Amino acid sequence: MISTRNSYVSKMVNDLQPSGIRKFFDLAASMEGVISLGVGEPDFVTPWHVREEAIRSLELGYTAYTPNAGLLELRQEITHYMNQRFGVRYDAHNEVIVTVGASSAIDIAMRTILDPGEEVIVVEPCFVSYVPMVTLAGGKAVTVQALKENDFKITAEQLEDVTTPRTKAIMLCSPNNPTGTMLNKSELQAIAQYAIKHDVLVIADEIYAELAYDEEYTSMAAIDGMQERTILVSGFSKGFAMTGWRLGFVCAPEPIAEAMLKIFQYQLMCASTMSQYAAIEALRNGRPEVDEMVKSYRRRRNYIVQSFNDMGLTCHNPGGAFYAFPSIASTGLTSQQFAEQLLQQEKVAVVPGDVFGTSGEGHIRCSYAASFEQLQESIKRIGHFVESLKQSV
Ligand code: PMP
Repeated sequence: MISTRNSYVSKMVNDLQPSGIRKFFDLAASMEGVISLGVGEPDFVTPWHVREEAIRSLELGYTAYTPNAGLLELRQEITHYMNQRFGVRYDAHNEVIVTVGASSAIDIAMRTILDPGEEVIVVEPCFVSYVPMVTLAGGKAVTVQALKENDFKITAEQLEDVTTPRTKAIMLCSPNNPTGTMLNKSELQAIAQYAIKHDVLVIADEIYAELAYDEEYTSMAAIDGMQERTILVSGFSKGFAMTGWRLGFVCAPEPIAEAMLKIFQYQLMCASTMSQYAAIEALRNGRPEVDEMVKSYRRRRNYIVQSFNDMGLTCHNPGGAFYAFPSIASTGLTSQQFAEQLLQQEKVAVVPGDVFGTSGEGHIRCSYAASFEQLQESIKRIGHFVESLKQSV
């Protein structure tokens, strides 16, 4: 039978743009000798004792599903960790869900809270998944721009300006991907006041919480009056160097967590069993390696930020995550042009800032989760490229 449809794909999905990051990296992958500062993942391998626990779980034959919310033992470790590390208290029995990466936590959060047409304020520049996840959940993403002039920190006034009676939540990420900006306690308090005043939820993506270089990390849920209106998303990918294990978690007030679990059980059932055993070990005994990785990222951060500033690409000091976000405005190129020409001429892959939102334009995202030698070589190449642009004017 010949189909009379134009496409089997829904209009909503048809309208979805593929991630600007992927497109770029397919190109980089087809070239030889490219140094990539593009991908947002640690260059460290998961510590051996953590991997060993996954192997041990397989040897013991733990190959079945776990409870939908995850192994109770892991949830207990998570609540212990959240308390020790960030001073927040959650109940392992009904306020924590172990998810398939922070990604699935954000997805179920959106689908749990949104009725059709309800709005989520998404602070840009931001991780490329937020807007599509709001859209796919039937909501409307209202973007608001954190500005370079304010170190990419959003203000409560800016949030006020885009608030409507349909505003259900704000999506916040600190330390931020792509800017590395980390909000301190008083900045979080200002946002908290706004959220309480307007009775909106905060979805706090705290996946980079371990990677804070200059100040103690403050969780949104630790701010007075916020735990009851925060959906705290986190995971093992970044701080524990476990991207491929696909393991995250979400902490939320019981009624919300219970509702989220309904979606998760139909959608994914549970996270990978062996990954969950590995995560228990990471939380129990992984602290020394996390501290070592943080030390190493801090050194690289200092080096790369200084180097960008030295070559005239102004770069604010990112307090966390593993991204530098220098301005390329002085070159006169758009971020897409800069990234494309840099790749073609010097074989360094970076991400054009515009893929993260309007205020990302005029910047490039460089991940410094690469070896020090690679960073030195790419800085040399980027410096060369910037010089060649000056000569061609
Ligand atoms: N949030 C942010 C801000 C991220 O940068 C990423 C990964 N790049 C994720 C969530 C997704 O992480 P996970 O691997 O835990 O799904």
